[in-house]
Amino acid sequence: DQLISQIAAGEVVDRPSAVVKELLENALDAGATQITIRLEQGGVKRIAITDNGCGIPPEQLALALARHATSKIASLDDLENVGTLGFRGEALASIASVAQVTITSRTADGEHAWEISGSHESQPTPSSGPVGTTIDVRELYFNTPARRKFLKSDQTEFGHCSEAVRRIALSRPDVAFSLSHNGKTVDHWNAGGIDKRSLQIFGDEFAEVRLPLDEDSGELRLSGFVGLPTAARNRADSQYFYVNGRFVRDKLLTHAVRMAYQDVLHGDRFPSYVLWLDLDPAQVDVNVHPSKIEVRFRDGRAIHQFIFHAVSRALARTSA
Ligand code: ADP
Ligand code: MG
Repeated sequence: DQLISQIAAGEVVDRPSAVVKELLENALDAGATQITIRLEQGGVKRIAITDNGCGIPPEQLALALARHATSKIASLDDLENVGTLGFRGEALASIASVAQVTITSRTADGEHAWEISGSHESQPTPSSGPVGTTIDVRELYFNTPARRKFLKSDQTEFGHCSEAVRRIALSRPDVAFSLSHNGKTVDHWNAGGIDKRSLQIFGDEFAEVRLPLDEDSGELRLSGFVGLPTAARNRADSQYFYVNGRFVRDKLLTHAVRMAYQDVLHGDRFPSYVLWLDLDPAQVDVNVHPSKIEVRFRDGRAIHQFIFHAVSRALARTSA
């Protein structure tokens, strides 16, 4: 059982940034408006995420660490219309099988916090702390040395973690995020609108070259902005695409945007953009892979066309 858990964990949490992503999604699902991420040594030594969400009642703490236990899905019907980010009930169990996990949590009507350490077989004990949850993950892969050996330098792993935070922070400007590494605050983003958040993340130079975009076909809506390629902003890593609020990396979407850039600007440089595609959830399958970064569309052609035209129009507005 332990071995199966560790193998499954390799798929869900293949490196520290995957742990960060899962914990952030849980915090958002819990309704948090403020999330603090503390990392040590690239997240390998420690990942501690504190949120001010709804908390976990003591009688559910052990369950949170159990495999296939989720509080987010009541019936098979729900599977079709997953509104929350996670629903497999797999992440915490997987993380707990390859690291030392402590959950400290308090609900709004709880008199004090409770904590649980280790596995779903442990007992919760009284603790202290504000309403919300802290999940503390220490010594990632301590019991799977082969996997630990595959990790890159602390700085590289930290880079992946901070990118995971950006992706989520860009999709939720209404939530405040704070990120520290080895005790030093690296990012601190107050809650606000997407304009402010994107400036916080991309820096001021992006403000001069970005073109807002908002097109609605009734079935599809594409909003956000596209940046004109400049010397300063010419990086593949400033491309963010969200489908129904979820960050994705998808060939079809990337291709449609790139075609529009080539068509209008005749350049082959990497564009920067932050785009949200919203559509009927029944038209897209987001569960292709546990990492949920890939998607599959019912009608990919229509979506490609829509995006190509919307981005082309936005770009043409200034080059005219
Ligand atoms: P899933 O998110 O797919 O349900 P997880 O393993 O990520 O599965 O989490 C298991 C359960 O633990 C969740 O369903 C939720 O009830 C609870 N949980 C985890 N993290 C938090 C959190 N930060 N705040 C409140 N509840 C949480
Ligand atoms: Mg989850």
